[in-house]
Amino acid sequence: MNPAKRRTVIAGNWKMNFTPAEATAFINEIKPMVAGKDNCDIIFCAPFVSIAAAMEAAKGSNIVIGAENVHYEAKGAYTGEISADMLKAIGVNTVLVGHSERRQYFGETDETVNLRTKAALAAGMRVILCMGEVKEQRLAGITNEVCAMQIKLDLAGISAEDMKNVIIAYEPVWAIGTGLTATPEQAEDACAVIRATIAELYGNEVAEATTIQYGGSMNDANAAELLSKPNVDGGLIGGASLVAKKFTAIVDAAQ
Ligand code: PEP
Repeated sequence: MNPAKRRTVIAGNWKMNFTPAEATAFINEIKPMVAGKDNCDIIFCAPFVSIAAAMEAAKGSNIVIGAENVHYEAKGAYTGEISADMLKAIGVNTVLVGHSERRQYFGETDETVNLRTKAALAAGMRVILCMGEVKEQRLAGITNEVCAMQIKLDLAGISAEDMKNVIIAYEPVWAIGTGLTATPEQAEDACAVIRATIAELYGNEVAEATTIQYGGSMNDANAAELLSKPNVDGGLIGGASLVAKKFTAIVDAAQ
C-alpha cells in the first residue's frame, strides 16, 4: 500500500451470511475492537435484508456498511434486484459490483458489471469493482491480458472524475473461498498491471490515486505481507470478515 498516495480500504463481504440479528451482534462485537484504527477505511458489505440492522449498530463508529450488488435500472420489472436509488434511500453509499460469484453463478458479464457500475456512480455511490482471472487463465499465462481486458470492459465509458469513487478489487477467482491465496508477488504483479491499465485509460494521476485491493482468502496470517506490497492498497475479505478477531487482525495489519 502507498498511504502517501491513496487510502487503504479493508472491506468485508459477508456474502449470504448474517441475519439482521447476527449482523447487529457482529457489529456490536467488532466496533470496540476497531475503534480509533483510522489509517484505513473499514467497510462491511451486507446482505440486503441485514443492511439496516448493521447500519444502526455501526452508528457513530468508524465502520461503513455497504451492499453486495446493485441493479443498473432505476426501477421496473427486475424481480429480485435492488436499484441504486433504493440503496441510497436507506443511506447506503458503497456497493460491491461484479463479484466473481455473481459472474459465476448468476450470469453477470463485463457488460452488465459495467452498467451496474455506471448506475451506482451516477447515483453518487462508491463502487468496489471486483475482477480477476480464473485458474485456467492463470495456468495459461494470460493473467495480465485478462486483467487488462476486464478493466477496460468494466470501466468503459466511466469518466476520470467518476474514478474518484471507484475502488478496484483484484480477486483471482481461484483464490476466493478456496484457502488458496495469491502470493504477495502474484498479487503485486496483477495490481501493478491493473494500475498500468488505468494509467493507459485515464493517465498517471488517476491511476496513482485509485485504491486497488487484493481479495482471495486474505486472513489474519497473510494480510501483513500482502498489504506490504506497494500496489496493494487494501483487502476485500470474505470468510475472515465473519470472525471479528480475524478481521480486526487484518485491520491492524493495515495500520
Ligand atoms: C470475497 O468474497 O471477495 C473473498 C475474497 O472471499 P474469501 O476471503 O473467503 O476468499
